[in-house]
Amino acid sequence: MPDPKHARRSRPRHAPRRRTQRARARRPHAIDLAGRVAVVTGGSRGIGRACVLALSAAGADVVFSYRSRAKAARELERRVRAAGGRAVAVHADVSRPRDCDRLVRSALLRFGRADILVNNAGIWEPEGAEVATLSDAQWEKTLRVNLDGSFYCTRAAVPAMRERRWGRIVNIASTAGQRGEALHSDYAASKGGIISFTKALSTELGPHGILVNAVAPWWVDTDMSHDTLEREGPAAGESSPLGRVATPEEIAGPVLFLCSDLASFITGEILNVNGGTILCG
Ligand code: NAP
Repeated sequence: MPDPKHARRSRPRHAPRRRTQRARARRPHAIDLAGRVAVVTGGSRGIGRACVLALSAAGADVVFSYRSRAKAARELERRVRAAGGRAVAVHADVSRPRDCDRLVRSALLRFGRADILVNNAGIWEPEGAEVATLSDAQWEKTLRVNLDGSFYCTRAAVPAMRERRWGRIVNIASTAGQRGEALHSDYAASKGGIISFTKALSTELGPHGILVNAVAPWWVDTDMSHDTLEREGPAAGESSPLGRVATPEEIAGPVLFLCSDLASFITGEILNVNGGTILCG
């Protein structure tokens, strides 16, 4: 027989955590995502992992994808659970539409809703290539993961957001999509596409209560950039007015803000999170 004390405390599988009116009245500008469910692509490491931790610390239940790092994904699940949150890792390759459908469906099955989508999964080929020698395979791979993947996940998530007339989509762009990046035209094109995709969706989905924004980082110290940053040494960060590159947490904070009620009148924004490196409005 279940212990009645425990039964009272445990939530049914789908039940979201409730925000307490009193807690909100006490801290009106605190970010509280209790009751929200977030889907984060590429959550196993880097910026995506920091987003999972930030969203979960703010009270959201999180479903995140990984592609190759199953162990890291399981560890993150455990870490969220140990802190009293709920996170579920799903193996999904965002370049495959069916995987994106399954990722969003996992959130609906496990938590009954999908309110927030962070399109973060991405790739960048450190070696780069001049456009005259850039292979079809490299071009297609970058576009499929970085741009098509964001489209597939967005398409899968929007119906659930529309149904509730509430949604937040945050796309991870890049300064490369704003000012270009020599020898990385595939990556720059994919991120430029993300920026236009964000703007188009903000006008299309605003009337349905869904806000769509992008965060555009410059260098962030993650596995993606680590070898390049090591090779370049301190000079890499020194070209920024802040004299350094960003941490993944410094990208996750602005993502969290855009998902929160504090950003309820912001849509179609490309938020520069680049340490003042490029100033574009
Ligand atoms: P990262 O450390 O290399 O992590 C990439 C994440 O994306 C991992 O979780 C990886 O999964 C996942 N991923 C890669 N290909 C995938 C695919 N086909 N399907 C599903 N997931 C896939 O990169 P990061 O630096 O955190 O980058 C995150 C985002 O920020 C990217 O969109 C990137 O373009 C953007 N960004 C990064 C920087 C930077 O300097 N780092 C700057 C500007 C923008 P596994 O771990 O399972 O392989």
